[in-house]
Amino acid sequence: MISETYKAMLGGKSVIRQLSEYASARAAEIGAQNVFDYSLGNPSVPVPEAFNRRVIELLETRSSIEVHGYSPSLGISSVREAVAASLNRRFGMHYTAADIFMTSGAAGALAHAFRLVTGPGDEILTFAPFFPEYHPYVDLTGARLGVVPASADFQIHFDALERMLTPAVHAVLVNTPNNPSGAVYSEATLMRLAALLEEKERAFGHDIWLISDEPYREIVFGGKEAPYVSRFYPKTIACYSFSKSLSLPGERIGYLAVNPESGVSAMLVNMCGQISRGIGHNCPSSLIQLAVADVLELTADLSVYETNMNILYDELTALGFEIVRPGGTFYIFPKAPEADAVAFSQKALRHDLVLVPGDTFGAPGYFRIAYCVETEKVVRSLEAFRRLMREAY
Ligand code: PLP
Repeated sequence: MISETYKAMLGGKSVIRQLSEYASARAAEIGAQNVFDYSLGNPSVPVPEAFNRRVIELLETRSSIEVHGYSPSLGISSVREAVAASLNRRFGMHYTAADIFMTSGAAGALAHAFRLVTGPGDEILTFAPFFPEYHPYVDLTGARLGVVPASADFQIHFDALERMLTPAVHAVLVNTPNNPSGAVYSEATLMRLAALLEEKERAFGHDIWLISDEPYREIVFGGKEAPYVSRFYPKTIACYSFSKSLSLPGERIGYLAVNPESGVSAMLVNMCGQISRGIGHNCPSSLIQLAVADVLELTADLSVYETNMNILYDELTALGFEIVRPGGTFYIFPKAPEADAVAFSQKALRHDLVLVPGDTFGAPGYFRIAYCVETEKVVRSLEAFRRLMREAY
C-alpha cells in the first residue's frame, strides 16, 4: 500500500521550491548572472571563520567517538549548558541545561514543540503572512493550523485573533522577525498577546502555549534587537536555528528552549527525547553541536541584508510599490500592483525576476523578495523592476 497522505501532498509541492527550480533551469539557459532569483531563503554570506576553525580543531583534537558518535538523545550536556548560559546572559532568562533540547534546525524544534503541547484535532493559531511549511509541519501531527488574517502593519490583528481564539486552540505560533514580511514584533505587541493568552487560559480552564519560531532572531536592522518572546509569557517554547544567523542551513542545527517559568520545562524537554524516538528526527551531529557551542554569540556578517533591504525599499517605493519597511530578516513583502499576485509574478518572470506570490504565505495580493543575494545583483535587478512596471502597468 502506498500512503495516500503523502501521495496527495505531491499535488501541493512548495511553490518556493518550484520557483527556485525554475530559476536554476533558467540560469542554465541564460547564465546565473542574468537571473534575479529572489525565491529561496538560502543565506548568501559565508559562515564565520571561527566556526570553520573550531570544526577543524575538534576534528584534530577530539576522539572519533566524541565528534562522530551518537549524541545523547537530548543533546550534548556541555552544549545545552552553554546554550542556556548564553540565553541567560543575553536575554535575562533563567534557563538551565535541563530546559534545552538540541534539534535539527528550527524545523526539528517545531516538530517537537507541536507534539509536546497539542494532540490530534487541537488547533494551533498562527498569523498571516506565515512560512508556508507550517502547513505540513502542523498537518502531519494531526493538529489543525488556523491562520489569523494579517494586520496592515504586519504586527498582530488582535480583533481577528480574539475572534479565532476558541477553546479548541492549545497553542499559538509566532515568527518574529517574520518570514516573509520582515516585521519584528514590538514589546507592546508581545505584551498584549501575553495578556490575551493569559485571559483566555483562565476563561477556557486549559493551557495555551506560545511557540516562538525564531530563526531570524539575530537579523534585525537599525542596530536594534528583537524583543525576546519568552520573556513575555511563561509558557513559551522557543524554537531557534543557526541556519540563518551563522549561514549554516545545511548543517541542520538548532535547539528548543522551554521557559522554566512554565514549571514543567524539564519534563517537556525529557518528553522531546521520546518524541524523537517516534519521528526519527533525533541526535543532531555531535561535531556540529560542539562547534556551535563555541560560537553562540557570533553571527556571520549579516550587514549585507540591511544594505539590500534599504536599496530595495527605497527604489521599489519610488516605483510606486506599497511596502511595510522590514525591521529584520532577508525578506521584503511589497503589495503587488494588481490584486492577483500570481499573475504579477508570472509577468515578472518575463524579466527574469523570480518573485514568490503572497498567496503561499496566506497573504494574496503581496509578493516576497528573498534578498539574500549579492548587493551587486540587487542593484542590477532594479532595471528589471523598472521595465516590468513600465511594460505591464
Ligand atoms: N521557520 C521559518 C520562519 C523559516 O523561514 C525557516 C527556514 O527558512 C524555518 C523555520 C526552518 O529553518 P531550519 O533550516 O532551521 O530548519
